[in-house]
Amino acid sequence: MARIPMGKPLVEIDGDEMARVMWHWVKERLIEPYVDLKTEYYDLHIKVRDETNDQITIQAAEAVKRLGVGVKCATITPNAERVKEYNLKKEWRSPNATIREILDGTIFRAPIIVKNIVPAVRFWKKPIVIARHAFGDIYAGTGIRFDEPGEAEIVYRSASGKEIRAKIGSFPGEGVIQAYYNLDRSIISFARSVFTYALTANMDVWFAAKETISKVYDARFKELFAKVFEEEFAEKFKEKNLNYYYYLIDDAYARAIRSEGGFIWATKNYDGDILSDMIAAAFSGSLAMMTSELMSPQGHYLTEAAHGTVQRHYYRYLRGEKTSTNPTAIIFAWAKALKRRAELDGLDTLRRFAELLMEATINTIEEGIVTQDLAKIIEGQNVVVVDTESFIDAIKNNLEKLIAKHINV
Ligand code: NAP
Ligand code: MG
Repeated sequence: MARIPMGKPLVEIDGDEMARVMWHWVKERLIEPYVDLKTEYYDLHIKVRDETNDQITIQAAEAVKRLGVGVKCATITPNAERVKEYNLKKEWRSPNATIREILDGTIFRAPIIVKNIVPAVRFWKKPIVIARHAFGDIYAGTGIRFDEPGEAEIVYRSASGKEIRAKIGSFPGEGVIQAYYNLDRSIISFARSVFTYALTANMDVWFAAKETISKVYDARFKELFAKVFEEEFAEKFKEKNLNYYYYLIDDAYARAIRSEGGFIWATKNYDGDILSDMIAAAFSGSLAMMTSELMSPQGHYLTEAAHGTVQRHYYRYLRGEKTSTNPTAIIFAWAKALKRRAELDGLDTLRRFAELLMEATINTIEEGIVTQDLAKIIEGQNVVVVDTESFIDAIKNNLEKLIAKHINV
């Protein structure tokens, strides 16, 4: 068949270890034979980051800002062991942190749903996407321990010399205090990223806090979310028949359990820390069935798999063994990036291809052809456990059937 044309390129950010190996298999076997793929390529292999003093990471993030869409492979965040293993100049920062900072983006973690993996909560039929505000709160908190009776207050001294004071309390003896903060600017960017993502994903948004108790802090989050929504998004949501709901956090937890899923849950930093792990475990328990998308307030978009470089499998691969590592999240990262590129550029065939690639992957798993991580969590079906390359070949087979049926070329 003639390959499906692309318009603008997307930013391709390569990474490390087993994730990198699978990255190239996916690209060469599931995408390039069908799409005239155009990418601007950045190699974030740990050695390249080391040689460029991590400038390559900054360039990759700037490219996503310029081209609007990217896809990223998992990368090593070096620690002392990695510095030795790869003979690095230093422990370079996490590339994801650098990229998120440059794009001022929010991470959305979304489970990939297949019929034969039953969520722990039986009502859930559609994904619950968690958006975590990764700024401030207790993660930038300051604590004091005291051991005598006394009293405490908070003082804010502005750059111009104004002071705002509030009494915390008087205490009879030993205890602890913690102070933390957030910035309007960051909350507003967060809200914008969430509503922008919702419009592209066609999902409702929930935001939840505890403003009945936290009458200044959480109330400010609630206020700013409402303001950004009303002023910038209410109309676009209406056109698409989508909704924004604010709930008290305890109410939201109870509602989420009873819901069938299918919404984006925007959370404050600590709630998101906990919820994202809980929701991931409750949907399937495998990080290989979870994508991670970064959306900036301006709509710049970067996808990746939620898992890391799968180091242990990589060492087996290097010894020449076949591994049964699951490439599903990597395939979805590519498909979602291609889909976004296609939507921005008005390329309908490319959009359909991206959707068929996801469908072919789901069909393969639902037929019971799986990697070893899923064999353990699928119940009531005889599965065939295959190595990564055979799994990709099985997907390719299903993809070709779908293309023959749905795409005229
Ligand atoms: P990991 O790569 O996610 O792997 C942890 C374990 O989860 C694996 O050993 C494997 O379990 C299982 N697993 C993860 N992905 C899988 C897949 N696709 N298929 C099958 N099993 C899978 O996390 P890690 O071992 O903690 O971290 C390794 C490296 O990745 C580190 O250098 C870290 O810095 C980096 N990392 C990068 C990112 C990112 O770039 N976004 C995120 C997280 C970690 P079994 O071994 O039991 O089969
Ligand atoms: Mg956590």
